[in-house]
Amino acid sequence: MPNPITVTRFAPSPNGPLHLGHAYSAIVAHDLARVANGRFLLRIEDIDGTRSRSDLANAFREDLEWLGLEWEEVAAQSRRLPSYETAARTLKARGLLYPCCCTRAEITATATVTGPEGPVYPGTCKHRNIPEGEPVQWRIDMERALAETGPLEWTDALAGVQQCEAMAAGDIVLVRKEAPASYHLAATLDDAADSVNLVTRGADLFAASHIHRVLQELLGLPVPVWHHHDLLLDASGQKLAKRKNSPSLGDRRIGGQDGRELAEQLRAENFPAGISLGCP
Ligand code: GLU
Repeated sequence: MPNPITVTRFAPSPNGPLHLGHAYSAIVAHDLARVANGRFLLRIEDIDGTRSRSDLANAFREDLEWLGLEWEEVAAQSRRLPSYETAARTLKARGLLYPCCCTRAEITATATVTGPEGPVYPGTCKHRNIPEGEPVQWRIDMERALAETGPLEWTDALAGVQQCEAMAAGDIVLVRKEAPASYHLAATLDDAADSVNLVTRGADLFAASHIHRVLQELLGLPVPVWHHHDLLLDASGQKLAKRKNSPSLGDRRIGGQDGRELAEQLRAENFPAGISLGCP
């Protein structure tokens, strides 16, 4: 059988302008697809309706064009809500999700363990009857999920084969109070729907891939290879963040900087003063 065509993606959330770190990430994904004669996709991850700004998606497209990248755009998350609802229904019917009405503050106050996703949910709502009408989020019962899947592995193109360690994240939210999916459920379903077989993103999302691998197994989705690249760090070793420590690509573009030249510099790992590649 011929090897399937390589499909990579860049999946920014429109909750703040893109910065150099995003440019680097998009270029890595773009170039991995290009060398393999594959496809490079842009997916706008606007599942978080309260924080997403539609004007930013347009700015993202302008930024990518300015960098000299070519892409195929696939449906934004806000257009895929029914697929999230269907998956959540399936998981609920199998007893793999439970409702939870805890607030973030309650969890912070009661959690005793911190995992890769922050405080690990102590399971307060797992055996609790929640009053009718109370807004709930739905959490995965990770113990039960892992009992179903058994041990799993996944492969990072750079770091090699990984034993799946989703338990460390605990019972994370898959369906939010205000959205039919969390990032984890939405991105996993989207990558499968978009035939992405090389999930390219920053190393800050490495731990998320353990969770995504479990979801793939539970939902019978194809298993991609991942490529977690190092991040652009500022002079204090912090990753560049939206609105924080780096001018946006839009500022650079409007300021007259040459985007293609910048892309070449990023490819050559020739970063502006104070910026380096690493893992925070
Ligand atoms: N939407 C996420 C972000 O902007 C990226 C998710 C991913 O690449 O899986 O941070």
